[in-house]
Amino acid sequence: MINESSRERYAARFPESKALFERAKDTFPRGVPHDAWDVSPFPIFMTKAKGSHLWDVDGYRYIDYYGGHGGKVLGHAHPAVVEAAKKQIENGVQYGSCCDLSLEWAERVKKLVPSAERVEFTNSGTEAVMMGIRMARALTGRSKIVRFQFHYSGGYDAVLVGYKEPFDVPISAGVLPAAVEHTVVIPANNEEALEDSLRTRDVAALIVEAAGSSSGVVGIEQSFYQTMRELTTKYDTLLFFDEVVTGFRYSPGGVQAAMGIVPDLTALGKGVNGVVPGAGAIVGREDVMDILLFKDDRWNRYNRVSHFGTFNANPFCAATGIAYLKLIATGEPTKKANENARALRDGMQRKMDERGIIGCVYDSGFSVLHVYFGNCDLQGGCDRTVCLNADKVRSPDAGEALYINLALNGIKAPSRGYDFFVSAVHTKGDIDETVEAFGISLDSMVEENTLPK
Ligand code: PLP
Repeated sequence: MINESSRERYAARFPESKALFERAKDTFPRGVPHDAWDVSPFPIFMTKAKGSHLWDVDGYRYIDYYGGHGGKVLGHAHPAVVEAAKKQIENGVQYGSCCDLSLEWAERVKKLVPSAERVEFTNSGTEAVMMGIRMARALTGRSKIVRFQFHYSGGYDAVLVGYKEPFDVPISAGVLPAAVEHTVVIPANNEEALEDSLRTRDVAALIVEAAGSSSGVVGIEQSFYQTMRELTTKYDTLLFFDEVVTGFRYSPGGVQAAMGIVPDLTALGKGVNGVVPGAGAIVGREDVMDILLFKDDRWNRYNRVSHFGTFNANPFCAATGIAYLKLIATGEPTKKANENARALRDGMQRKMDERGIIGCVYDSGFSVLHVYFGNCDLQGGCDRTVCLNADKVRSPDAGEALYINLALNGIKAPSRGYDFFVSAVHTKGDIDETVEAFGISLDSMVEENTLPK
């Protein structure tokens, strides 16, 4: 439990948010319209986002580290994207027909993402994952998929096991046992477990969060990328990267471009147009993507994977996507975001060290930082990039305490406070302010005894 004083200060500081939450409880089933926005005693209601900042209904400004759920490498309302969006609203957002914009958008994806020989746009990352799994099953005639413990891949039934312990129980009720019975969950970075799971030659795809669980909380050992590629090829299983967060963020071409490993299929999501709702894409090798081809009646009825969706490849997402990917393609935004993350990481780590707090702030190899409180095997004897050692289970109470204290000091993190999605438009001033706010938050957590024991 969080010490009352933090909660009281929070409640006193944000009366308009509190009032809106009271009102929302009569309409939204859980008072918030998204599971991830649930925060006790109440969430902060925002009114505006620009660059690296958010503003709330009580008039406070925040430095934002959720970044539109992780996809805003260029921050909020980037002028080029806003201009494209405005223009396209005037020209129509759904033609119910092909348009040159979605073609150009797809060509830009193709240029950046090594595995993207063909591109099929979806409305979300979840839908991209769903399509990829369906396509892999149709192509291989196999049912099973393999995934790693703690990896998250959105809301499709088949991937709702494996994210949280116990790993064989879906993270939602209402999921039929039949929907998850073909999902095999194994530990990450374990060659033997991977080979054991594939050896039976009945696995359609290995689906992997490309930088490790929850955007790199526990990363993937560099040599394991090659292992995954070799073993999936050996057993005729498709290697399926989930680059919903890492695509266009880890590097312009995602993890696969940086690691030099080309998967057979890739799910892209929010990052494909900088989180202008709602975009995503399933991309992959030509012969794999050919499962979407129209052929003769028999093939179309019995072999082909179909794809539906009113908003697929709509000109609004396409126009914003083109504007966004033009900037991403320069390489500057991801480079700058990574540099900013390093500076923030070092500043935050200093604040922990100065207070003798055992723990770590690491950058997971790109612009997503994670805070870890507690011991790990290496105890600082590493370069605080990709973490393979930290215990993956993070105390929700401590995360909430951190979130509340950061919010009191003008920093908006995701609702458990542990993760920081850093952008190219965070300034040195933002980073310095965040480091100070983190120090103050740690002091408060020490005083209130809310750090994990
Ligand atoms: N895969 C990963 C790694 C994600 O982080 C997410 C969303 O956060 C998804 C898939 C699902 O994407 P969406 O929320 O667009 O459905």
